[in-house]
Amino acid sequence: MGEREIYVLGSINVDLMFTVDNIPQAGETLHGLDYLENLGGKGLNQVRAMHELGAKVVMLGAVGGDAMGEKVLASLRGWGISDNYIEVMSHVATGLACIIRMRAENRIILHAGANFAMTEKVLSPLLAVKPGGFFLAQLEVPYSLVLMGMKVAKTNGLTTILNLAPARLDVQDILPYVDYLIVNQRELELLTTIYPREEVDVQLAFTQLRQLGLQRLVVTLGAGGVLYVDAYQTIFVPSYRIDAVDTTGAGDAFVGAFVATLAQGSSMKDALYFANAAGAYACLHVGVEQAMGKREDIKAVMK
Ligand code: ADP
Repeated sequence: MGEREIYVLGSINVDLMFTVDNIPQAGETLHGLDYLENLGGKGLNQVRAMHELGAKVVMLGAVGGDAMGEKVLASLRGWGISDNYIEVMSHVATGLACIIRMRAENRIILHAGANFAMTEKVLSPLLAVKPGGFFLAQLEVPYSLVLMGMKVAKTNGLTTILNLAPARLDVQDILPYVDYLIVNQRELELLTTIYPREEVDVQLAFTQLRQLGLQRLVVTLGAGGVLYVDAYQTIFVPSYRIDAVDTTGAGDAFVGAFVATLAQGSSMKDALYFANAAGAYACLHVGVEQAMGKREDIKAVMK
């Protein structure tokens, strides 16, 4: 079956993770217990999830013209992900997340840097796409670009997916261009004021969003599984019963696996089931990098 191209407009961050046993007070300097550097950002995480599954992914994003940016591009090339459409912005820093981890709780300071400085230029590959592919975006990059990307992608015959993360309220203008909206429980609550626990909540939220032009809604419910709603059907996929060790990255693993499976020509239902297993796989591994499974790893969860 023909593999379709997936264009992803999204964020790239370098995560600087400090583990501490105390938070410094004003004027105080403390030694950390541990330090770890990882690549992150929802955009890049989802791209990596799809790449692990063998999908043909084109990342549209930006890094700063600094040493961190060079490091990111070298890593992408090392993984076999193309950096052809990553803008290098000389006047800004690469996106950075300073993560302070104390007793399994994270405090995060974000510097969006190039992620918020990117320009329309980043969308230029969408102007010459072959119809039949996919376009995916999250909201860690300028909303105006995501909106423009959705419109151009739709006009050029791509299937569009919006992962509304982080949550945003005023999305009326974008929903008519979105084929699949993917949200978690908190994101759906912020958007519709409905916190989804069961089917009826998601159906009610979908009724609201449908009036704004949305066609299909996917809601991830953490350990509660996944609910899908469109105008004709509701599908509930229960989660796997697992001993979760770290749920970080579960949402990104889910979104990546869902879109990669659709791009292979599978049915929406198969994509939901596979993505549900990919989310479970992510919860069985500590860290985001380790959270993205290969096809056989995820298939093993489904057995
Ligand atoms: P996010 O990380 O965006 O908050 P969720 O917590 O809803 O997203 O998780 C995404 C998906 O990962 C869920 O729909 C489910 O398929 C899987 N998942 C998450 N937490 C668990 C868990 N504790 N047990 C099994 N599967 C899980």
